[in-house]
Amino acid sequence: MERAYSGFLNPYACNDRKSLGRAFQEDTPVYRNNYQRDRDRIIHSAAFRRLEYKTQVFVNHEGDLFRTRLTHSLEVAQIARSIARELGLHEDLAEAIALAHDLGHTPFGHAGQTALNQCMKDHGGFEHNLQSLRVVDSLEQKYADFSGLNLTFETREGILKHCSQNNAKKLGAIGERFLNKTQPSLEAQLTDLSDETAYNNHDVDDGLRYGLIKIEELLKIELFRKQYDIVTKRYSNLNDKTLIHEIIRRMINVMVIDLIDTSRSNIENTKLSTIDDVRQQTKPLMAFSQEMTEIKLELKQFLRSNLYRHYRVHRMSMKASAIISALFEAFMNDPRILPTDVFEQCIKLEKDQSEDDMARGIADYIAGMTDRYAIVEYERIFNPRQLSFVNLIP
Ligand code: MG
Repeated sequence: MERAYSGFLNPYACNDRKSLGRAFQEDTPVYRNNYQRDRDRIIHSAAFRRLEYKTQVFVNHEGDLFRTRLTHSLEVAQIARSIARELGLHEDLAEAIALAHDLGHTPFGHAGQTALNQCMKDHGGFEHNLQSLRVVDSLEQKYADFSGLNLTFETREGILKHCSQNNAKKLGAIGERFLNKTQPSLEAQLTDLSDETAYNNHDVDDGLRYGLIKIEELLKIELFRKQYDIVTKRYSNLNDKTLIHEIIRRMINVMVIDLIDTSRSNIENTKLSTIDDVRQQTKPLMAFSQEMTEIKLELKQFLRSNLYRHYRVHRMSMKASAIISALFEAFMNDPRILPTDVFEQCIKLEKDQSEDDMARGIADYIAGMTDRYAIVEYERIFNPRQLSFVNLIP
C-alpha cells in the first residue's frame, strides 16, 4: 500500500496524492509516497554521485573540508526540510527538489557554466537550471520503461528555478509559469531560498578556512558582526574554529527564522485554500523580511568582491574556463575523438543532424564531467606525453 505523508500538511501545500503526475504513468509506490520515490530516484542517479567531485567555489581537490556540490545539496535539503515541516508544507518534496537542484551544473562551478554557455552561444546556449531538468527528464538512462527519472510534475517544477521565455515556450506545462509570470509551489519557493541561505553561509566558512577572507573584514558586515558580538560576549576564549562555527550556525538560524516568520505572515495575509491559489500569485510568498533582504545583500556584495573575485579563485576560474572551451572546440572540430559510447549516444552522423544537435550532445557530455574528469580528459587530448597506446613500439 502506498503510504500517505505522515506529517501535517496545510491545504495549500503540495499533496503527493494529488500530484499532477509523471510523464510515463506508473504504479503507485509501496510503503512510500510519490515525492519520496522522486527523492530516492535522485539519490540513486549517476548525476547525483558526480556532485561529490564538482566544485561549489573551490575546486574539489584543493582541500578535503571545502563544500562540494554534494555537501552543498545536503545542506540545502536540511534547511528546506526544517522550513517545510514548520510551515506545514511537504517535507519530502522540498527534500527531493533540494537534492536535485544542482544536478545540471558543469564542472568548476560558475566559471564552467559561463564558459560552456559562451561555447554554446550559437547553438541555444547553456543554462545549468535547464540542464538539471534535462538530466532528470532525459539524460539519466537506466530505466527500461522511460528516459530520465520520470519524476512528478511538482519536483520538476521546483528544479526549474529560472528559465528564459524562449526556452519556456519549448517546455510545455512546466514552462508556463515563466510565460504567465505566475509562481511555483511553496515547496519550490522555499528550496530556492534555502539554497541561498546555505551558500551565503558556507562560503563565509570556506573562505575563512582557505584564508581568503578574514574575521576582521567580516566585522564590517552586519549579519556577521551581530552574531560575533553575541558569541564573544557569551564566550571569552574561543579558538577561531569554534568561534567561526558558533557565528555561522547562528547566522543560518536567524536567516531561517526570518524566512519562516515572514513567509508565514505572507501566507496568512493572502488567504490561500489550495495549491492553485499559490500558483496564481504574481509574487512569491516565501520571502525574507525587508530588513533581512538588505543585510543579506551586504554579505553577498562582500563575498562577491572579496571571495568570488579573489585572485586565487579567479585564477582557478580562468583555468576552468580554458579547459571547458578547449574540450568543446576539440570535440566540435572532430567528434571522432569522443569516447565511442558518448559518440554513439550523442552524435548521429546522419545527413540531417544539425550542428546544434551535435553541440548539445557535446555540451551534455562536458556538463556531466566532474572537475577531475575534465582535467584528465583535457590532459589526454592535449598533452602529447599522455599516450593512449603505450605499447606501440616501432
Ligand atoms: Mg545550489
